[in-house]
Amino acid sequence: MPLSERRLIAEIRGAVRGGDAVVTGIGDDCAVLRIPKGHEVLVTTDFSIENVHFRRDWHPADLVGWRCLARGLSDIAAMGGEPRAAFLSLAVAGDIPQPWIRRFMTGLLDLAGRFKVPLAGGDTAQSASGIQADIVVIGSVPRGKSILRSGAKVGDLIYVTGSLGGSAAALDEVARLNPGSSRGMRTELLRQMRPLPRLLAGQWLRQHKIASAMIDISDGLSTDLSHICEESLVGADIEATAIPRTRILPGKEPEALDYALHGGDDYELLFTSSKQVASNISGLNVTSIGRITRTAGLRIISDGKARRLPVYGWEHFKKRK
Ligand SMILES: [Mg+2]
Repeated sequence: MPLSERRLIAEIRGAVRGGDAVVTGIGDDCAVLRIPKGHEVLVTTDFSIENVHFRRDWHPADLVGWRCLARGLSDIAAMGGEPRAAFLSLAVAGDIPQPWIRRFMTGLLDLAGRFKVPLAGGDTAQSASGIQADIVVIGSVPRGKSILRSGAKVGDLIYVTGSLGGSAAALDEVARLNPGSSRGMRTELLRQMRPLPRLLAGQWLRQHKIASAMIDISDGLSTDLSHICEESLVGADIEATAIPRTRILPGKEPEALDYALHGGDDYELLFTSSKQVASNISGLNVTSIGRITRTAGLRIISDGKARRLPVYGWEHFKKRK
């Protein structure tokens, strides 16, 4: 193991705070975790790959670290679970500056600290080129209580937390402005790209038996709603005017709807319920955007007319623009 790698691990170990679930963390062959009695274990894994999920000239290192962990925590939130520990495998090419890696870890551990999720292990290696990070998050949920994608029923209402499209719109602006953007503008845009995983809202929905199905919006509303519909063997109608959209670019109303429908990386929760849900849970706005239908496929209703809603992943959406 090269000295720089040893030093990095020692630094990470020094910066990590333990959590209730971690019996033994970094420093042994395996981490030893203790999960509450009567709970089932949740496991999720997500890649963050340079030039696929982020670019070093657009995304500051601490933001990349933050978002790396946010992806995993958001998956735990989408099950109604509680995160117990995180594991990071990080491969970095020899020409990546050490300060970049430190700032990446600072961003990741900043988010970990906010939700008291200990980093309990991982691996480091030299990559052939660029940066590849893989985050594993272990969570838990009382036995049989995970909120699945497959539980939506015909007639259920469809809800989203927060507002949608901000992260994708901000990324497009950062890309357009770069490198001539003013620092103030960039700071405001980058704030949009720093999601807070909706863990409390997810747990609240599970505890109150509200959600029949749930998913986090990582690939965009149209894609993630289609996942719920496929797993639940149903369709969905959504109201164009009801979709809460983040307005970061004044006077661009049609674009705001497109970003909200097809933009990725918002990490809000999308869920279905047979109940009328309050417009605010755990301090977070909740909006009803439509209804689950018997007819397969997605439809969007605007000006009283229903049309088929195409399911665009974010990459596809960007190509057709
Ligand atoms: Mg997910």
